[in-house]
Amino acid sequence: MSASDCAPFRDESPKKSCVMGRSPIIIAYFKGIAAIFQSPAVCATPQCRVQYGFQHPNFQLMAEAGSFADRVKQQADIIRVVGEYVRLKKSGQNFSGLCPFHSEKTPSFSVSPTKQFYYCFGCGVGGDVFNFVMEMEKITFPEAIRTVAEKCGIAVPQARERSPEERRENQQRSSLVEIHTEAASFFAQQLSGTPEGRAAKAYLLDRGLDSEAMARFGIGFAPSGGEALLRVMKQKHSEKVLEVSGLFSKDEKGRLYDRFRRRVMFPIANESGKIVAFGGRAIGDDLPKYLNSPETPIYSKSNVLYHLDRAKEALRQRDFAVLVEGYMDAIAVALAGVANVVASCGTSLTEPQVKLLNRFTRRIVVNYDPDTAGQAATERSLSILLEQGAEVRVLALPGGKDPDSFIRTEGGAAYTKLLNEAPPYVDYLISRASKMDLTSAEGKLRAVNFLMPYVQRIPDRILRSEWATRIAQQLRIEEPVLRESMRKAANERRSEVKARPELVGRAGKPAERRLVQMLIEAEEFRSQLAQEIRAGELHRGLETERILAALVAACDSGGRPDAASLAMTLEDRDRRLLFEIAFETGGPPTWEEAESCLAVLRRRRAEEELATVQKQIETQAAVAGSGGELRRLLERKQELRRRLDPPSQ
Ligand SMILES: [Zn+2]
Repeated sequence: MSASDCAPFRDESPKKSCVMGRSPIIIAYFKGIAAIFQSPAVCATPQCRVQYGFQHPNFQLMAEAGSFADRVKQQADIIRVVGEYVRLKKSGQNFSGLCPFHSEKTPSFSVSPTKQFYYCFGCGVGGDVFNFVMEMEKITFPEAIRTVAEKCGIAVPQARERSPEERRENQQRSSLVEIHTEAASFFAQQLSGTPEGRAAKAYLLDRGLDSEAMARFGIGFAPSGGEALLRVMKQKHSEKVLEVSGLFSKDEKGRLYDRFRRRVMFPIANESGKIVAFGGRAIGDDLPKYLNSPETPIYSKSNVLYHLDRAKEALRQRDFAVLVEGYMDAIAVALAGVANVVASCGTSLTEPQVKLLNRFTRRIVVNYDPDTAGQAATERSLSILLEQGAEVRVLALPGGKDPDSFIRTEGGAAYTKLLNEAPPYVDYLISRASKMDLTSAEGKLRAVNFLMPYVQRIPDRILRSEWATRIAQQLRIEEPVLRESMRKAANERRSEVKARPELVGRAGKPAERRLVQMLIEAEEFRSQLAQEIRAGELHRGLETERILAALVAACDSGGRPDAASLAMTLEDRDRRLLFEIAFETGGPPTWEEAESCLAVLRRRRAEEELATVQKQIETQAAVAGSGGELRRLLERKQELRRRLDPPSQ
């Protein structure tokens, strides 16, 4: 099938939110899979539905036995790979953690090391190690295979036939990264190479950065000429790629010139530490004070957090992040020994940035400038952070200082102390509100309206109530009045609460659930079990009918069924049920147990048939001349009776 045969490309209404979207990703998906890894992409249902909850369409990616994808999957350790993104704790046979795909406070995200898949009991996402990496990194299936292979130290074969445009894009991306790396070392050399550069270095020294710090953060200088970088780069790179690099501008005659001139340069790296952009701070009074790289094929400012590549380890260890505005702030805080700092830098905080950060920690201390713009930025980022389920504190430094200037004058120890004492965001907001004019009724209303959206985001009812009391006291508002407006706000909010996927819970009887497990787990008698189910049509009419049918079919083809890829072929409810059953823990399967489960299902079949036969007997008895048929039915009834109540011996 071709990509254009698939509904998701045509469907204009992906109501059931599909993160992968009908995007170039999927198209690349198809092209890539077949070409590179010889693993056909199969659209599992004729209509190619977008599944609710599961964040990509119902394509089944078959890692063909023996293919590279299959080998990677066999060797990859899903716990290690997922563990790079989610803090996992061992619980029983499995591992659990906070779901990276939806906001939650208690872990409902589970990973099975033995079955090599993950599933979220909260939002219903699930899949294998490739699905996970595809979702987290927003990459294609072939890219996910590569990524997982690299993470697990498996040598990746050279890609053979990529489509020409894909190859061009990849080439362009790697040239762009190369250009940025070269530019960074060019800028760094300038700091000691020219009088102008040395003056810039003196300026940096004056701002409290020594040579070691400059080297550590790769700080450099862009000279004022306008062609210095261009000359160097032209020797190696085509004008075309230089043009898209974002490092050059074009004059009216169409000639390129250096975008950054007479500026201190800060390399901006992506999460994996590759330099993808620069921030340039003017020396002296040049405007703008801060100039950043534009968006390029390798840089999207809303997706990058400055210093994240270096902060990762500390973020995981300390389980909180300090969020500052600019690179100078981030550097100052990191130099003060707080390595878990990132800067939103050149943009107000975006949702993708918060999601990126949430992969490492959900506890965030916002430390923006305390000036008016900084306050507004703080409040904007609070909204985004709280929406994403972050646990937020706010550090407002005294004396109207930003982190950089505070640390320079007061020292790192003073900073760390205040950081540790940073109050929860509600305290910060109350103190902001109490500075408003509270003498008039309108003023009080303004203050309440300012606070209410934030207070409503406190998930805990008791805590919310405590805050209401505090707000009432501090703003001198009558508590009943305040509570009334809170109730109203709560009602408005409730209507926006999104529908949760239907809970699968305890669907299916214990015996059928256990049989599903055994078909997945029982190496020794799996095919025998499948045969028994098929022969007696024991799965007919069960809640797990389609799951059992798929498993039986997979066992028949001789292999060990791969629950995660099998799940992708099922309807959403069945898919989730399969994951949930697979996560239940039973002991090691035995044939005795299997037989007793089969007996339960056989009995159920017999009972059903008995009921049907009984009905037929009643209708037949009323019809004249149906003696032969009636006798047959009565005999069948006897037989079923005997089966259900075997005579005791
Ligand atoms: Zn989830």
